[in-house]
Formats: sequence, C-alpha cells, structure tokens
Amino acid sequence: MHATLDSIYQRVLDRNPGETEFHQAVREVLESIGPAVDKHPEYAQARIVERICEPERQIIFRVPWEDDDGNIHINRGFRVEFNSALGPYKGGLRFHPSVLLGTVKFLGFEQVFKNALTGLPIGGGKGGSDFDPRGRSDREVMRFCQSFMTELYRHLGEHTDVPAGDMGVGARELGFLFGQYKRITNRYESGVLTGKALVYGGAQVRREATGYGCTFFVERALQTRGDSLAGKDVVVSGAGNVALYTVEKVHQLGGRVVAVSDSSGVVHDPKGVDLELLKEIKEVRRERVSTYADQVGHAEFSSDRSIWDVPCQVALPSATQNELDADGARSLVRGGCLLVGEGANMPTTPDGVRVLRDAGVLFAPGKAANAGGVAASALEMQQNASRDSWTFEYSEQRLREIMVDVHDRCHATADEYGRPGDYVAGANIAGYARVAEAMLALGLV
Ligand code: NDP
Repeated sequence: MHATLDSIYQRVLDRNPGETEFHQAVREVLESIGPAVDKHPEYAQARIVERICEPERQIIFRVPWEDDDGNIHINRGFRVEFNSALGPYKGGLRFHPSVLLGTVKFLGFEQVFKNALTGLPIGGGKGGSDFDPRGRSDREVMRFCQSFMTELYRHLGEHTDVPAGDMGVGARELGFLFGQYKRITNRYESGVLTGKALVYGGAQVRREATGYGCTFFVERALQTRGDSLAGKDVVVSGAGNVALYTVEKVHQLGGRVVAVSDSSGVVHDPKGVDLELLKEIKEVRRERVSTYADQVGHAEFSSDRSIWDVPCQVALPSATQNELDADGARSLVRGGCLLVGEGANMPTTPDGVRVLRDAGVLFAPGKAANAGGVAASALEMQQNASRDSWTFEYSEQRLREIMVDVHDRCHATADEYGRPGDYVAGANIAGYARVAEAMLALGLV
C-alpha cells in the first residue's frame, strides 16, 4: 500500500477497534487509490482520504417492541450517515441478527463510492438493526418497524437522508416504515424512502434493479472479451431480492442458472432453475430452497455442499459478505469459471479475489456491479420529486444505460491508471475522484 495511505489505514484500525468488516472495506479501497493520490496532491492537502474514512454522523438507538405473546424485546438500531458531498445520504437498511455498528460502517463506506460511480446526485449512508424478521408474524414485523421509525424519522428527509431496503428489508418492511414516517410527521413525503410498492409512490424496476443491473454489467464485461452470457452456465448464491432478479435477467439474456442457495443450503438444477417456482417458494411462501428440490425431481439439495463446487462459466455471489473465500475461488477456477460478478456487497474475501485475479478470471466488484439498486432508487426519487411515473420499459432502459456507463467508467479509469481490466482499481479510483472533487469544492465541512 502507498505509504501515506498505509498510515491513514493504521489510524482507521486504531480508531475503530474490532470492526473487521469496516477495516476490510477501507483496506480494499486504500490499496487501489495510490495512483490517484499521487496525481492529486491537492486532495492530500485537504485530507480528503482521512475525511472520507470518518462518517459524518453515526446514530445508534434502542428499539423496544412487543411480540404476539406479549414478550418485550430490545433490539439496536443504526444509521451511519457517511458522506453527503454529492447529495443526500442514500443507502439501504439491513435487518439481520449479525448486524453490528462495524457492519453498517462497512456497508456505508462502500455505498459512498458506489453512489459516486452512478454519476447521480446521491451521497452514501447505511442503516439497520440486529432484528431478525425470519419467523416473525406480519404484525410483529410491523410493530418492530414502527418502533424503529419512531426513533429514526427525525434524522430522515427527502433532502437529508433517504433509506431503502437491503437484507431482511423488502416491500413489507418498507411499507410499515413509510406508514409510520407519514403518521409521525403528518407529511406524505414519498421521496423519503425508496423501494416502495408501486401503489404508494414506488417506481417500476426498483425491485428488479440490483439483479438486472448486475447482469447488465456482467454482459458488458463479457463483451469486452468478445463474449456474452448466451449459452453459459451460471451459479447465483442467495435466493433473495438480488439473486431472484439476477436469475431472471440471466435467463432472458440466454444464460442458464444451474444453482442457487440460501442459508440452509444449495440447490443444483442442471437443467436450469425454474424461476417461477423459486419465486413462489421464496417470495410468496417464504420457505427454504430445499422445498424446490422436493418439488423438482431432477434437482438436488445439499446442506453442506459449497455452491462454488458447481461447475460454471459465470459466478454471481448475491447473498452476503465474505461468502466466497480462497477455497471457493479455487473451486470456481477448477470448474472453468471465466467471470465473477458481485451482486452482494463484498461477498469475496481478499484471498478469494487474489486467487481469481491470479487465474485471470474477470472480477466485477460489488460497488460497481450491484450499483443498479441504488441507481434505480435515485430514479425513484426523481419520479417522486416530479410526481411522475415511468413505464417499465423506459425505467429498464435507463437502468441499462446507467450500468453500461458504470462499467465503461471503471474500465476507462483502469486503463488510464495503467491497470487494464482491473475493475477493482477502476471502480475505487473513479468513485474516489468524484467524491474528492465535490468535497474539495465544498470546503472544510
Ligand atoms: P435478501 O434478504 O432479500 O436475500 C438474502 C439472501 O441471501 C437470502 O436468500 C438469504 O438466505 C441468503 N443468505 C444470507 N446469508 C447467507 C449465507 N451465509 N449463506 C448462504 N445464503 C445466505 O437480501 P438482498 O437480496 O436484498 O441482498 C443480498 C446482498 O446484496 C447483500 O449483500 C446486500 O447488501 C446486497 N445488495 C442489495 C441491494 C438491494 O437492492 N436489495 C442493493 C445492493 C446490494 P436466508 O433467507 O436463509 O437468510
């Protein structure tokens, strides 16, 4: 690592003890941006990197709620408002028992660069809670969301901070959150949350955007090698929002998804996953992926097989952070994998990335490849502000254009800094340069 950046990194470690995922995300960025720091001494003088590594505001609060049996539960809520140089803080809420402050900081930090890469006017933030919605009734989820928003609402606003969904926060949760915001503030402020259902201010293609966007990015990356998704076997980890709509778009572009997973195990369907059945199981019945194998005779479920052992040409990790390690990466290389595209945030460990890079596998990092979700959120804000509503076709076309731009910006920046084909360097440098330019223009704030 560049000497100046290494000393900044050491200071991040000292000031944020125990936050290993945050350290990992910071390190990944600082390892790439050395050439940009050398090229722009004015950024160093304004201490832009140190300022980017420190969130503008971190909010932690108690979330008390009552379950259906009258028992009281106490969860912890977070919102980390990381950087607003380019626009209001923008980034999702994650409800998952593993959520800690360090998790939210890693996601918020990634979000700053991702949002910058879209070219849209949005800053970066992230939030969530250690609440687990799985197995909870709709009314329990509603009571939790109402309690969460009762504290968080004072920090939000369409020009201030605009959350969206993430793991464990889908259409149901966003509806309850928006309902409580509206009730407390007595304002129908559609632009305060994105990912809303169409009936109360949502936008076409937001639900599909992260998965579709990742697939558009991957298709564009394959095109740089004179290739495409058509006829390729693909594995997609996860079976949530990102994974399901990745499967949909891969199939539309002529690829065949042969394996998906959830936290209970992996389903391998060598004939190609039946998406309608998978959606019914995951979105409507909220069951485990093993049900799929129960209903499809030739599909196999395994609770201990790694999804990366399934041979494929393209792998799209779309479940959670650090799910693809060096062993998994070696399995992918053995199975003939040509490209890994991150639908999830930071799903590949640093060792995993090294294995893929050494084997010449194209690697599309999440902060570029999964930027479609936040890009569609920004389009939702645009429609809310103008009280407009675009068609599905037009929204998808805008999303595709944005993802092609994100790809091309990363690709061109990697070329410019002497790292051709290195999307990690391209994404980090391009994102950093845009945020740094804005921070410099705004003065010391
Ligand atoms: P969901 O909650 O809808 O789905 C997550 C899926 O991943 C579930 O199927 C879950 O299974 C599975 N999963 C979680 N942990 C593991 C694990 N350890 N092993 C295997 N499977 C696991 O979340 P999203 O699809 O919204 O998000 C997925 C990833 O994409 C996250 O990293 C998120 O930050 C990122 N992302 C999401 C965006 C969005 O628009 N939603 C935008 C950009 C990034 P189970 O149900 O069993 O827990």
